[in-house]
Amino acid sequence: MKGLLQQYIQQAAQHIDHVVQNDHFVLHEREVGRLIRVSSGVASVQGLPNTKAMELLRFENGVMGIAFNLDPDEIGVVLLGEDTELKAGSRVERSGRVIDVPVGQALLGRVIDALGKPLDNEGSLQTELRWPIEREAKPIIERAPVSTPLQTGIKVIDALIPVGRGQRQLILGDRQTGKTAIAIDTVLNQHDKNMICIYCAIGQRGASVAKLIQQLREQDALKYSIVLVAAGESTPGLLYIAPYAATSIGEWFMEQGHDVLIIYDDLTHHAHAYRELSLLLRRPPGREAYPGDIFYLHSRLLERATHLKKQYGGGSLTALPIIETQAQNLSAYIPTNLISITDGQIYLSPVLFQKGELPAVDVGKSVSRVGGKAQLPSYLDISGPLRLSYSQFEELETFARFGTRLDDATRHNIERGRRVREVLKQDESTPLSVFEQIMILQAVIAGLFDTVPIERVKKAGLQLCSALTDQFVPLQNKIYSGERLTAEEKDQLLNFARSVLNSVMENIHENP
Ligand code: ATP
Ligand code: MG
Repeated sequence: MKGLLQQYIQQAAQHIDHVVQNDHFVLHEREVGRLIRVSSGVASVQGLPNTKAMELLRFENGVMGIAFNLDPDEIGVVLLGEDTELKAGSRVERSGRVIDVPVGQALLGRVIDALGKPLDNEGSLQTELRWPIEREAKPIIERAPVSTPLQTGIKVIDALIPVGRGQRQLILGDRQTGKTAIAIDTVLNQHDKNMICIYCAIGQRGASVAKLIQQLREQDALKYSIVLVAAGESTPGLLYIAPYAATSIGEWFMEQGHDVLIIYDDLTHHAHAYRELSLLLRRPPGREAYPGDIFYLHSRLLERATHLKKQYGGGSLTALPIIETQAQNLSAYIPTNLISITDGQIYLSPVLFQKGELPAVDVGKSVSRVGGKAQLPSYLDISGPLRLSYSQFEELETFARFGTRLDDATRHNIERGRRVREVLKQDESTPLSVFEQIMILQAVIAGLFDTVPIERVKKAGLQLCSALTDQFVPLQNKIYSGERLTAEEKDQLLNFARSVLNSVMENIHENP
């Protein structure tokens, strides 16, 4: 009997040895802490001394949080979900990893939240790959200069404040001045340009985001876009991670050699969310109650936009961050920070918006520091002189308002300038191709619009575009391939414009 028992024990011991040696049986070491305090999207945790900065922690109800503040005896955690079911004293576990998002081709055409969960009813994302949301910006050695234009399809921007692929161009203005409209028009204009567009909505009303998604879907632009939404009612933690998550998704496409456009709408809400978190975590407040690292918050985000050299894949990531100004104050804290981080800004003025000069771009206060180098040569020939004469015109016009008596040449310049301004007006969702823009702008510079009554100029410009036929396809291709037009070819275009505008004028005379 005793011998049999010993035999059994021996067999059992051998079996356990076998299981352990063959990894059937693994012991998991887990660190478990306790939740001390929770309120307004942040929590304090004790008992996890080995937690690393920015590590994900898992709470009892499945909600995750980011370890933000590491103090010797307490951790300040930013929650990424609802805190309603969390109780003081409940368990908190370390996850050993940092926060990441799904990346890959499967995201195209989808609407997701800041954690990468689908928000449309189109099933789960078919991708295994996940990238951390915070990644290092590309080193200088891998970066190429900005050399290819990114056409927004909006005349005033493409001509006077051009944007290049890989550039960071800020869009700023008071509320309701058409900031989102410019970004969305740019997305609509990319539909046959091999560009992947990511729209990151931060802290906006659900209704406006839904309208925007609908617009993208109707115009068939969703198929090359990704919409990442951190809506206004999300916890500040989700608002905070949204732009970084969107950038990682964009970087994946960039590293596959694609050109990517990413819109952050808007970073004012992002800065507010970060300020809220910092104050709740009792970090010391500085100017306008923002924490000391508010500049780093946005600089490390926008520094990830770049144009890669050919040998590193050749893709690009263009960033269009949007921010809202208060009462046209460009020198507030966040606007000045972003102006200094980006490669230029498009300023939208509420005054112009009220006058109906749409898009309400204030050319004098807008600038593009690198985009001009990326413009197509034939376009550059037109836009260079246009920029100069337009700014001269704006000065002259202010001067002329004082009732000064003007000589003929000045009056003529003012009349010409007014027509340029009319021609630059453009409705929403009507992006124009480069060729159409060149046609109109060349005609107005050559004075072909001088005889058209000012209130008919905008319409005449559109009529000129719709009269364009296939006869210009070779010229068009020449422009797109980066060649300059010869004087003869320019004349050919001008003659065409002249004949169209003459018939427009005849029409006006017949039905005034
Ligand atoms: P918010 O501060 O609320 O985000 P916003 O600055 O993004 O506003 P939009 O929502 O883009 O502004 O535009 C405000 C309004 O102006 C919208 O009703 C839009 O349709 C209109 N609008 C914008 N651009 C144009 C345009 N070029 N032509 C006609 N209407 C326009
Ligand atoms: Mg907006």
